[in-house]
Amino acid sequence: MNDQNFETLAIHAGQAADPATGAVVPPIYQVSTYKQDGVGALRGGYEYSRSANPTRSALEENLAALEGGSRGLAFASGLAAEDCLLRTLLRPGDHVVIPNDAYGGTFRLFSKVVEQWGVEWSVADTSDPASVRAALRERTRAIWVETPSNPLLGISDIAVLADVAHTAGVRLVVDNTFASPYLQQPLALGADVVVHSTTKYMGGHSDVIGGALVTADTELGDQLAFHQNAMGAIAGPFDAWLVQRGIKTLAVRMDRHSANAARIAELLTGHPAVTQVYYPGLPEHPGHETAAKQMRSFGGMVSFQVAGGEEAAVRVCNRAQLFTLGESLGGVESLIEHPGRMTHASAAGSALEVPADLIRLSVGIESVDDLLTDLTTALS
Ligand SMILES: *Cc1c(COP(=O)(O)O)cnc(C)c1O
Repeated sequence: MNDQNFETLAIHAGQAADPATGAVVPPIYQVSTYKQDGVGALRGGYEYSRSANPTRSALEENLAALEGGSRGLAFASGLAAEDCLLRTLLRPGDHVVIPNDAYGGTFRLFSKVVEQWGVEWSVADTSDPASVRAALRERTRAIWVETPSNPLLGISDIAVLADVAHTAGVRLVVDNTFASPYLQQPLALGADVVVHSTTKYMGGHSDVIGGALVTADTELGDQLAFHQNAMGAIAGPFDAWLVQRGIKTLAVRMDRHSANAARIAELLTGHPAVTQVYYPGLPEHPGHETAAKQMRSFGGMVSFQVAGGEEAAVRVCNRAQLFTLGESLGGVESLIEHPGRMTHASAAGSALEVPADLIRLSVGIESVDDLLTDLTTALS
């Protein structure tokens, strides 16, 4: 099965027809418990749906195949997945290197929650391997990387950082939410664990919250699965089904997201009201070569700064029509937001504070001409 190409795996991995009925889509097993044919005699290993549920198992098998791992686990949200990973990997006194442009919720988890349990963290510029090496401590257990990063679209070299991590005997965690496994496969580049907010491109339709962890390390996979069950923040059957439904079209959606975003980045680059564009597909982006090496294409996220400061940025967000003003990303519809006041408000005053005149776009798969028109109007 794993010899097949991505598009095929996205549709078929873990998705055998239902043995009872032949249904071509694994059904939503909206159930908590399972009849046993005698004490301890389980049908197909199912006993209680926190431990395992067939709809979630189908998704978990699919996730493992798409990331080239041996174990996939589906959670109630991306942050639930991160929490499970951190509590599996870390003990009080341990230390983690986190990126200086991490997702705001990831930063909040470290700075406001995990820290209270005695876990230490420090910030590095993960696009610079020397900065990461310098941040390592004796009790460092993991290097956390997001590439492309949120919201500044920074690029980190996964293969190089895997080397830095493994030389120091620590694990490399990659948040692959912005790229999706169609564009980038961190495990193949040496990462130990991949994190996803499946809320974003994997689900792809802005209709579900979910998260995932994937690893190729079977021992770590077992530890994560133990903690998933012990802590309980699982994806419910309907949510797992929605994420899987989204994944089936991931490849075609990502191709269009990337193509549309490239056109938007081109428009912004030449626009007089725009002072800076962040898109790894642009040759002048400092991470362009690394991105070209480790990604199939450059994805659907574009950020930019405008002349006129914060007020001007807020005005552009408010004036856009087709680009819906809202948080989140990765859905078929285009979104616009002001990270400083919205998604990244919790990073204010920290090393992760974002520029006040920054705007972030999640470029959808609508007609690119309509998107260009809307943005031109909003900027005028
Ligand atoms: C949204 C997001 C998360 C958190 O996921 P939730 O599903 O919202 O809990 C983590 N990392 C990145 C890069 C994200 O965009």
